[in-house]
Amino acid sequence: MRIKPFTVLAAIAALVLLTSCGLHSLFKEGGSEYTIVIARDAPASERYAATELRDWIKAVSGVELPVTDLDGGQAGKRLVVGYNSLVENYFPDTVKPEDRDDSFEVRSREGDIFFWGGSKRGTLYSVYSFLEEELGCRWYSSKVSVAPSLSSWSFRNISRREEPGILIRDNCVLDVRTNPAFSARLRNNFIRLPGERPGETLPGTAEGYWGVHSMGYLITPAEFYSSHPEYFSLRDGKRQSGYSQLCLSNPEVLDLCVERIKDVMRREPDYLIYSMEQADNFLFCECDECAALAEKYGGQSGIMLWFVNQVADAVKEEFPDKFIGTFAYQYTRHAPKDIVPRDNVVIRLCGIECCMLHDYDDCERNVDFLKDLQEWSAIAPHLYIWDYVTDFLEYCLPVANWKTMRTHIQDFRDNNAIGILEEGDYQTTSCELREMRSWLLSKLMWNPDADLDALIKDFTDGYYGAAGPFVREYLDLEDRILRRPGIHGICYITPSDEMYTDEFITEGLRIFASAKEAVASDSVLYDRVETAEMPLRFLQLEKDPVKALQEGADTIFRRVVEREGIDRMAEGSWGGTYMTAKEVIDKYDKMARDMAGSRMLPSTRAETSGPGVSYIKYEGDFMSTDEMLSGGKVVEEGVMETIFIDPDPEKDHFGHVFDTWFMAVEDGFHRFKIVSDDGSVLFIDGQKVIDSDGSHSARTEWALVNLEKGLHRLTLRFFEDCEEQRLEVSVIAPDGYHGPLPADRLFVPDN
Ligand SMILES: [Zn+2]
Ligand SMILES: [Zn+2]
Repeated sequence: MRIKPFTVLAAIAALVLLTSCGLHSLFKEGGSEYTIVIARDAPASERYAATELRDWIKAVSGVELPVTDLDGGQAGKRLVVGYNSLVENYFPDTVKPEDRDDSFEVRSREGDIFFWGGSKRGTLYSVYSFLEEELGCRWYSSKVSVAPSLSSWSFRNISRREEPGILIRDNCVLDVRTNPAFSARLRNNFIRLPGERPGETLPGTAEGYWGVHSMGYLITPAEFYSSHPEYFSLRDGKRQSGYSQLCLSNPEVLDLCVERIKDVMRREPDYLIYSMEQADNFLFCECDECAALAEKYGGQSGIMLWFVNQVADAVKEEFPDKFIGTFAYQYTRHAPKDIVPRDNVVIRLCGIECCMLHDYDDCERNVDFLKDLQEWSAIAPHLYIWDYVTDFLEYCLPVANWKTMRTHIQDFRDNNAIGILEEGDYQTTSCELREMRSWLLSKLMWNPDADLDALIKDFTDGYYGAAGPFVREYLDLEDRILRRPGIHGICYITPSDEMYTDEFITEGLRIFASAKEAVASDSVLYDRVETAEMPLRFLQLEKDPVKALQEGADTIFRRVVEREGIDRMAEGSWGGTYMTAKEVIDKYDKMARDMAGSRMLPSTRAETSGPGVSYIKYEGDFMSTDEMLSGGKVVEEGVMETIFIDPDPEKDHFGHVFDTWFMAVEDGFHRFKIVSDDGSVLFIDGQKVIDSDGSHSARTEWALVNLEKGLHRLTLRFFEDCEEQRLEVSVIAPDGYHGPLPADRLFVPDN
């Protein structure tokens, strides 16, 4: 760039003025006298740091600073990137950080700014810290970054030092997993840094954990069962030939595991921790030797640790800087007795059973986990926590764990956690407020003591603009309703969970209406707010479909799904209501068509002997309502106020037929919902509208029925097989009534 002499003179004059009062101008009105300087032999990660610094300063100021080698003879002021001879000269009291040390410093001296940390990532993080804290840059998601437009920026003195609260930070959500550049900007270090070419990453720049459940594939029955069935777990007197566990007391199994893991460590040296972990099932070995070791060391975690310690001893000489990782998971979650993990063993403790909504020391569901965490931490120098932060049955359901994400990470930090895997929507992009959840997790793993309210304000104002205050109001609503006394949330929640009240949906939608109004003139922000509203629309469809369809909730759901490219709704096909977003769309499409084309059932002029429900009670051992009617013994007949069964869990093998005239007070769609344990079948005007028959645990079914104002015959068959029983019948009526079948709309049939 050629600079006119006048500009140079003016710049020098300005500089004299600035330095005279101790101010240094990094850039001003499109110009800068700074050069980014790196050592000639700087590693690729620090070269990347220099380009990030250059690119983001340019994004903020419009000025592109040159990047030169340390001995390249630059003129003017310097931004010195990496620990090199200049740092040693200017800061003789410092020592070169370890390569994998993520802590860093940013310091100014005589107008120069120095950025340094460990060469793998620390230096890069120092650049990001400067860009965030000094220039105001933000990386809210892989797609949304903020670079404030500044005409000038100057500084007097900069002195920052930070270190990570958690050494290994694995933010396991799709947006981070698939975007190394974004991952690095959030200082997650489980993913390697980007290389020069698109899609390439830099070896050695991640603190990875190799494998999971590795015992299930290091030694398999397919390879060994025919020659060595004794390598596999003994269950009910038989060595297992399918996916099971290893016989840990067998010395040949130990030798094989050592050989195989060493082979992995040689072939794939780019990891810090190598998995020697139980397969994902409960089929541990029950042979005499294994049972004796389990007995000796306080249970299954004891024999597992006895085994893993020996693997760790065997690899230590060749791999002194590496760890062997093993699970404290399900049947090995409890801490063992009379044995402690070696220094080079990492215990990966898994809190899948925990309540996400409450602190560990403030929830009855978390008592056991807290005990395990504390007992392991008392004996294990290195823990690695596998934490769950979203709902895996339907990723998009609201989960009010904003406060506990922080306190849980603090508890991990305080109990020797060197790493955390925060498992979020790692397969899809449908998690509720996923950008904020992911951003907060990264921020909190870096600094567990960070000011949560300030972080949330930063994100909501930065990402949602004028709608930010409304998003915070919505978070307060979540906090008040979804965490009200008596409500808990593990990571498997369904839309019918009692935590999601009508008030939550109504109030939430009211807040989002205001939020959308606030950003109505900005289509980018509007879309973000609509995406944030989508979970509520999904809940509304599930809980009050008639109203939801009338309000266009299905249209909003579909628009967000298409815009965000959402495919999956759930982690797996087990347990959840929907596996894919398409299933949701198809279901409500069909319902909208059914509603549009449905015939209204005419009411009946009927004789009634007054309010109530007539019933017949049966007893007998039946597996369906048909069997009840054909083979059950009638033990009682009468009239009750509304549908009711004996809730005593000791009472089994009975059933009812309930029969009544239901009064529709207005024309229109009625949604009948039945939760039954065991089977139930509902008829309206002789048509079977809900079939939830058979022996099963509590199951929710519902039907939309278009009814003319007046009386309609409602017949419900129900039976209880064994264990607990439950029968709840509710209706959402066009006049706005919403709740259990109301006694004042039920009349005893005369015939
Ligand atoms: Zn065994
Ligand atoms: Zn709880």
